[in-house]
Amino acid sequence: MAQQMGNQPLIVLSEDSQRTSGRDAQSMNITAGKAVAESVRTTLGPKGMDKMLVDSTGNVVVTNDGVTILKEMDIEHPAANMIVEVAETQEDEVGDGTTTSVVVAGELLGKAEDLLEQDIHATILAQGYRQAAAEAKEILEDISIEVAEDDTEILESIASTAMTGKGAEASKDLLAGLVVEAVRAVADDEGIDTDNIKVEKVVGGAVDDSELVEGVIVGKERVHDNMPYFAEDANVALLDTPIEVRETEIDAEVNVTDPDQLQQFLDQEEQQLREMVDHLVEVGADVVFCQKGIDDMAQHYLAQEGIIAVRRAKKSDMKALARATGGRIVSNIFDLTDEDLGFAGSVAQKDIAGDEKIFVEDVEEARAVTLILRGGTEHVVDEVERATEDALGVVRTTLDEGKVVPGGGAPEIALALGLRDFADSVGGREQLAVEAFADAVDVIPRTLAENAGLDPIDSLVELRSKHAEGNDAAGLDAYTGDVIDMEGEGVVEPLRVKTQAIESATEAAVMILRIDDVIAAGDLKGGGGDDGDDEDMPPGGPGGGMGGGMGGMGGMGGGMGGMM
Ligand code: ADP
Ligand code: MG
Repeated sequence: MAQQMGNQPLIVLSEDSQRTSGRDAQSMNITAGKAVAESVRTTLGPKGMDKMLVDSTGNVVVTNDGVTILKEMDIEHPAANMIVEVAETQEDEVGDGTTTSVVVAGELLGKAEDLLEQDIHATILAQGYRQAAAEAKEILEDISIEVAEDDTEILESIASTAMTGKGAEASKDLLAGLVVEAVRAVADDEGIDTDNIKVEKVVGGAVDDSELVEGVIVGKERVHDNMPYFAEDANVALLDTPIEVRETEIDAEVNVTDPDQLQQFLDQEEQQLREMVDHLVEVGADVVFCQKGIDDMAQHYLAQEGIIAVRRAKKSDMKALARATGGRIVSNIFDLTDEDLGFAGSVAQKDIAGDEKIFVEDVEEARAVTLILRGGTEHVVDEVERATEDALGVVRTTLDEGKVVPGGGAPEIALALGLRDFADSVGGREQLAVEAFADAVDVIPRTLAENAGLDPIDSLVELRSKHAEGNDAAGLDAYTGDVIDMEGEGVVEPLRVKTQAIESATEAAVMILRIDDVIAAGDLKGGGGDDGDDEDMPPGGPGGGMGGGMGGMGGMGGGMGGMM
């Protein structure tokens, strides 16, 4: 494609556009992709380090989570962004293994670079990599272990492995239990929708105080102090319209000629609010969740009627409430009928760590649970949340697919060995590409060893020899440095974490390798320093990123260098 384009004399580029072709384009893109992978490599595994990311407004994120790091880094280079997408795909599809996928992609690019230098054509490389990836999938299937749906112990191990080395580490047993319970609670015939698991973060207390509540927790207080704290067997109204007299009606010019008229006008407003509340009473609502505001006067009337009301509830909370209570969100109060009401056995305002929240429990319509995650500071709670999200993802994935593989680098060693055997059957120049692929996946056990302060060569040698003896589950214990049976140790991950990582890493590497011509529109500024004065281009927009990336290669190298 690109070559054809190159031969087309009819294409006229604008004077300002920048063009890089052939090996220059390839090596520029490879360098960028490798740099991204390198930037997250040190976070891999139980002994991986965390990163502190500070954005331009001074917000601080401390994390070990690959995809979070890459998203926060605000990467502009287009090829580098393709690697970031690998992490995003991994996050969406399985919820864990983001660092692994990016590190493998970077290594595939690195190994490809060596072969390109030996004049192996990128197309051959791409073919070889694809063949290797297909074979890799089979090898992983072969070493995978089936998991029964009701095997709580192994599901908890999976959740726990996903949280190893994260901020949640110290409480991972408790959290793993909660995560498995939560996923189980929302599982039904149609599968598992983790959207039904709400995560409510509470700053205060310890991570160990985290708990699972069946139902939905809304992080708001009731609007009026005279409202009750509890409602039993409550009918719940869900409104996404304000309980106010429309602003426009108030703003409209009212010609008042004497005080009576003003009073009349105000009475009329009160009358309208009264009618709204009366309608809620008539329909039988005991609790009202309103996504918008509630007028002071209406609050007063609601309190008089003994109705619990919450205003400015989050949209996501409204959805969760609708699912859990079986209610329907209504946009016009007077359209509300008793059919639209949801039901909850208990609605109560309770205090957690000094924050008042509304607990909606004993819901029967749909299964919905809330994980209350606690921690001493906001940064701790945020990182616990990210680790928990990973754990939710792996448990869901395992229940979907029913297969796991041992962790600690075991599957990657099995892959490397299996692929080297497979390479012999490939022949031709593609064989070199398959071998390069096999070398590339070794990066995972090597990095696990490096991050644990172990000698990577010694570890790899021992891992390979154990695998050669037929121990498919032999992996590296990052704490002791011993090569042990990972399955026995309970270090297991869903098969799909590995197959998805290989698949998207390969796709991205192949896509980057096949590019031999980069044409960037010259009138797009961007990159490093000129972001600020370029008002027309939103920074980070696709076009801006492209231009910035091209022009700013030097900047990229420099910026990323700081991270390594
Ligand atoms: P990712 O973003 O790829 O999930 P992590 O930092 O979570 O990166 O590290 C995952 C790697 O750590 C996997 O290869 C996993 O098998 C490994 N791992 C997890 N727990 C252990 C353990 N106890 N011992 C050795 N390796 C482990
Ligand atoms: Mg992980």
